[in-house]
Parts: sequence; C-alpha cells; structure tokens
Amino acid sequence: MSDLDSSLRADLDQLRKEGRFRPLVVLESPQDAEVVIGGRRLINLSSNNYLGLNTHPRLKEAAIEAVRSWGAGSGAVRTIAGTQSIHEELEARLAEFKGTAAALTLQSGYAANLAVLGGVLAEADAVVSDSLNHASIIDGIRLTKAGRYLFPHRDMDGLQQRLEEARRDGRRRVLVVTDGVFSMDGDIAPLPEIVERAEAFGASVMVDDAHASGVLGRQGRGSVDHFGLEGRVAIQVGTLSKAVGVLGGYVAGSQELRDTLIHLGRPFLFSTSHPPAVVAACLAALEVMQSEPERQRQLWENARHFKAGLTSLGFDCGRSETPITPVIVGEARHAMELSDELRRRGVFAQGIGFPTVARDQGRVRTIVTSSHTREQLDAALEAFADSARALGLELRPKTQAATEA
Ligand SMILES: *Cc1c(COP(=O)(O)O)cnc(C)c1O
Repeated sequence: MSDLDSSLRADLDQLRKEGRFRPLVVLESPQDAEVVIGGRRLINLSSNNYLGLNTHPRLKEAAIEAVRSWGAGSGAVRTIAGTQSIHEELEARLAEFKGTAAALTLQSGYAANLAVLGGVLAEADAVVSDSLNHASIIDGIRLTKAGRYLFPHRDMDGLQQRLEEARRDGRRRVLVVTDGVFSMDGDIAPLPEIVERAEAFGASVMVDDAHASGVLGRQGRGSVDHFGLEGRVAIQVGTLSKAVGVLGGYVAGSQELRDTLIHLGRPFLFSTSHPPAVVAACLAALEVMQSEPERQRQLWENARHFKAGLTSLGFDCGRSETPITPVIVGEARHAMELSDELRRRGVFAQGIGFPTVARDQGRVRTIVTSSHTREQLDAALEAFADSARALGLELRPKTQAATEA
C-alpha cells in the first residue's frame, strides 16, 4: 500500500471508531415515496423530492424530447459556447417565478452559493452569516476575502451586534446571508426581522431558499414571497435539485447581479453548463408547480400529519416548522442505530450526526413529500414507535392538547 493510502486508511479507521463511517446507500429504483434498497421496498423519508416531481411524466417527456432536439450535452461553459436558447428561457422563467429582474442558473445550488459569495464580495466587504447556514454557504465564504461576521442561529441581537461591528470596521458592501429554511432542523429564518435590521445598516440580504422553494410561498415561490418581502431581498439563491426535482442552482436578483456573476462567478465561468435535458425538465417542473398547486397543499398536509404523529409518540422534533422533521436522539451512534432499526422495519430515514450537527444533536432526519399516502405515513410512524421500543429510547409522549398548543 502506498504512503498516501495507508495514511488515508488511518483517518478512515478513526471515522470507523467514531461510528461515522457510512457506506453509500444504493437505490435500485427511481427516487420516489417508496424505494428499493438491497432488494427490499422501503418507505422513503430521506429525499428532498418534496413535490414528487422527479418522476412526473411531464418532466420525463420534456427531458427525452430535449435530448432529441438539442443533444445530450451542452459542449462548453456558458461564456464560450455553452449558452443555448433554452438556458436563457429557463432563466427568464425563474426571474418571473421569483419576482426579480433577472436570474442566472448554475450547475448546482452548491455552485450558486460559491459563485455569489466569491463573485460579489471582496476584501473591503463583509459577510454576516447565521451560524447554522448550509455548508455551501460556508464554503462560499471561504472563497471570499471579505470580513466574516457570524451570528448565533436566528439571534437577532447577535445579528445587530455583527452589523455594528461591520460598520465600525468601515466595510464597503455588507451582505447578511441566511438559509430560508434550515436543512437540519426545518426551522424558518426570521426574514422580516433580518431585512429590517439589515436595512437600518444599509446592508443587503441574501437568502438561500434550497429547502423553501416549492415549499413556502405561492406555488412554492419561496420565503421572500411567503413573508411578502418582494424587492427587499437583494439575492435569492435556489436549487433545482430539491422540490424542482432535477438538478441545478440559480441566483435571482437584479440585472447588475446577473452581469456580475457572469463575469466574476468562478463556478459559472469555469464549469460546463447544464445538458439540455436538465434545462427542459426544469422548465416543465416550473409549469407543473403552477398547474398542480394541490401538490404543495398535500405536502403540508402530510408534513402536519407526520409531525403530529411523531410528537404525540413522544419524539423530540426540535424546532421544525416545515416538512423537514428531525427526530433528535443525541449521540451520532444512537441516530445510526435508530436509522438501522427503522430500515429493518421497512423505513428508509438516514441518521445524521457530528460534525453535520452538534455532538449531542444526532438525529434521524425525515422529509415527507406530497407523494406519500396516509397509509405509508402511518406505517412509518408505527416503525418509529417499534424501533424506539426495541432500542429502549426514552420517549415523552404528549397529550393531544399539548401537541396542538
Ligand atoms: C441542498 C442545499 C444546497 C445545495 O444545492 P444542490 O443543488 O444540491 O447543490 C445549497 N443550500 C442549501 C441550504 C441546501 O439545502
């Protein structure tokens, strides 16, 4: 074995010792309300496929048709020869959807955050960021030389202090960055207060709506629409990989923002654009989100039913307010054990532990979708109850009254 590989092996052994070494889970089926893993059908509570769009016939047809008429790949980066008219059509539709002057698509939501933070901010500037923001925001912040001002999760006094510090430090552009819906806890950013505080300091706001698009706002327009903050959030980042059901990221905002990213957003400049099939499927998804609003309603009905069920069984669902519902059990090891028990009982829900969440906040994270049936959700709740019993987990069942309070 080479020196590199034996060194890597030592690090991997450490992960194993900490119970953090997890083989990839391989699906032998489409990503849907149920999936096949290891030859068994399981109820799937692990996807971000909120509206069940990735298997929608209209998206599939649009992708196939685009391959026929446009080819399999785009052949270049956007700035050289990789911009086809459908790329711009999708961007026009996204801008309309988000109520902004312009939008720019990128290969992923991850790339979108890197492009914005690396492209918009320079050394003289400041980024003011919620401590629980997504890893792609953290990596984007690593790409900029701007001053970094972290505030404790959803702590508005903390935000105020950081804004004061940034002003004292004489920063030029000040950008407050937050997830719209936080991916590990399912809580919603207090966007109206964030906007108010930022405005008082002449700072701008950027919201990453990866888990809010398709979920919050009219037809799933996201958290800016949800809170009625049109025109007051300078940068809306979104993903096409979650509720939209395909792949990609986008940045919606002003024409100046779009032009800046085209010239300075490194992931945009140095990575090939989307294949036509991806673009066409995204366009179809946006149409379905408008023409089938019952999907969003069903998503929320399912989320409420499932969350109420978990809470009344006595599970700790933290501060979730959205279809992301964590079941918090403590150490990473316990989260993995619960996930394994659930799998034995026909439910696929991944365990998540340190360092993705704090050491004592290990959890099984569940996400229901609009495609789950009531029977599937009730069967999953039963599996949770049985798994907890098998593991001797301490539950604090709540009365119905307390659950509704
Ligand atoms: C998933 C996610 C991303 C990344 O989106 P991809 O399209 O999967 O790259 C970015 N930000 C947040 C908050 C996310 O949850």
